[in-house]
Amino acid sequence: MDLLSMVGMATKRRADYFEQARTLANKYKTQPILEERMKAESKGLTKGLRDKLMRWDEYERTMLDKTLTSALAAVALGTKNDKSNEKMEKAWPIIVGDMLPPLAKFLAETKEYIDNGTLRLGDQTVDFADYDLDGAIPGAINLDVDELEGINPEEEGITEAKQGRAIGQTWAGLANRVSRYIANPVYAFFCLGEYMFAQDQGNKEMRRVARMDKRTCKDCKNYDLQGWQPIGSLPMPGKGCTCYDHCRCFIEYR
Ligand SMILES: [Zn+2]
Ligand SMILES: [Zn+2]
Repeated sequence: MDLLSMVGMATKRRADYFEQARTLANKYKTQPILEERMKAESKGLTKGLRDKLMRWDEYERTMLDKTLTSALAAVALGTKNDKSNEKMEKAWPIIVGDMLPPLAKFLAETKEYIDNGTLRLGDQTVDFADYDLDGAIPGAINLDVDELEGINPEEEGITEAKQGRAIGQTWAGLANRVSRYIANPVYAFFCLGEYMFAQDQGNKEMRRVARMDKRTCKDCKNYDLQGWQPIGSLPMPGKGCTCYDHCRCFIEYR
């Protein structure tokens, strides 16, 4: 599916996505639970494709659906149910513009890996069911996997290929990249919902607080150092920094 068809399909199914997003938000209730749930779904979805439980076109459509509904649900949760429909409407073009171009490329690349045999359908040599999507040791509890300085999901495949790291070329690696579309962005879109809520409440200033651990990138540190700024003048977490979707800066308002 090329980008245009993808945007067309998203536009056509928009009302369904809004309804599904409201259901998701009501079901999972908090941002961390929604994100965890979507991480689990990243594995399930990858496994479904590998084990031929879904055809390629089903997989592609499910990726599109889950990318959009999880982002919308995240916005809804951020708005604390205050005029959330209206805010989801406002967030829709941002979600489509941010997510669909890299998603279209990512899917095309996955298709290529399948067609050329890099990813073999039915290959069960690696069990990634307990594979930690943050790259930590399987089973280990890692509480500060927050800001991994990295590259954006769109460039990831290109860089991997150049460096011969082939992260997206294994099934476990693919599950990890799927989570960068359907799970990791939940945080940034939750922050967007919170931002809209804060604006409605009449807040005038914002500040972006970085985690300041060893993984925090230079950009995030710089935003943190700027302190209080007029509302709307600082980028949302994951924007304007090299942590991208791994950014876990938080925004405060007053
Ligand atoms: Zn950063
Ligand atoms: Zn950050």
